[in-house]
Amino acid sequence: MTAIPFLDLKRQNHEIAPALEKATLRVVQSGRYLLGPETEAFEAEFARWVGTRYCVAVANGLEALMIALKALHIGPGDQVLVPTNTFVATWLAVSLVGAEVVGVEPDPHTLVVTADRLDASLTPRTTAVIPVHLYGRPCPMAEIMAWAKRRGIAVVEDAAQAHGARWGQQAAGSFGDAGCWSFYPSKNLGALGDAGAITTNDRAVWDLARRLRNYGSQQKYYHDVIGLNSRMSEMNAAILRVKLGHLEAWNQRRHTLVRRYVERLQHLPVILPPTDALEESAWHLFVIRTPRRGGLQAFLSDHGIETQIHYPVPPHRQRAYRPLFGPDRFPVANRLADEVLSLPLGPYLSLGEVDYVADALCRFFEEETREAHHGYSTV
Ligand SMILES: *Cc1c(COP(=O)(O)O)cnc(C)c1O
Repeated sequence: MTAIPFLDLKRQNHEIAPALEKATLRVVQSGRYLLGPETEAFEAEFARWVGTRYCVAVANGLEALMIALKALHIGPGDQVLVPTNTFVATWLAVSLVGAEVVGVEPDPHTLVVTADRLDASLTPRTTAVIPVHLYGRPCPMAEIMAWAKRRGIAVVEDAAQAHGARWGQQAAGSFGDAGCWSFYPSKNLGALGDAGAITTNDRAVWDLARRLRNYGSQQKYYHDVIGLNSRMSEMNAAILRVKLGHLEAWNQRRHTLVRRYVERLQHLPVILPPTDALEESAWHLFVIRTPRRGGLQAFLSDHGIETQIHYPVPPHRQRAYRPLFGPDRFPVANRLADEVLSLPLGPYLSLGEVDYVADALCRFFEEETREAHHGYSTV
């Protein structure tokens, strides 16, 4: 029996069920299911929330990245700097627009890329970079933007895990030439199905992205560019509008839970996520690191605690990319893949549940120490 699921989406939707029902009924009765008033309203509301002039709603996070790259004219012949320790979608977007991935190892402490590391990986054909705000932790965007401007390199932020993250006073997703969002159900802001968006202050990017998501068309049956079908449904736009109103409170709740995790786990022999940016991170995931991951995950599972690994195989070791990169090419990403473990976290987890998880972790390491003292392990 699972006492504590990794993320309970049903619990989260239950509290706002009346508002969700009202929104969905409104869409059903409207007769408009694509590119209608809900999408337009969501785009305006989300742009305001992020602090950009424009937002283009699309079908998912992968296509948000692809469309943003295309809107910046990145394609065949271009190389794009991308972190080695990201979800594979960041890499796929680059490959799918015909450009080439150049892997950049993250800072081993914050797990995000820095301007220094990007600079060290720069190639003559580099025309863009995709900083990923991994686990909700914002990349150092002030220095990255200054570096990119100096070099004339386009910046596409992968903000798929960073709804609500800030660098200084500014929101993640509002720094780059484009910010790309996923509203996959488990993200901090999640739709009931797939959805995504691009935020930007650049009118040309906005204009081209709007056409690219809709068959390259502005006027029905007239096609200016080679586009995709990547529209957000009116149903999801309406649902996301409801949820956007709760996002700030949900993120505050994540902060409270993270503080408790840190308080309870800091004396254990595990690497905790750095808390220097506790308020700035969106805390999409709470990821600890230990070489004892296998044993720990099994122990927690035996105690009804569901954990996950983000991600067990880095992109360069996937079959899709193995022919292009040797398996030992990126040691930081390889090591992280062996050691990371994501603990349960979500706005509807209780402090008692965090304590239950923390107690189990303490017991695991107590038993380990005891066994080490006796020099044998009990079966
Ligand atoms: C979820 C995610 C994506 C892809 O989003 P989808 O909506 O699933 O296509 C891209 N990048 C990162 C870092 C993600 O976590």
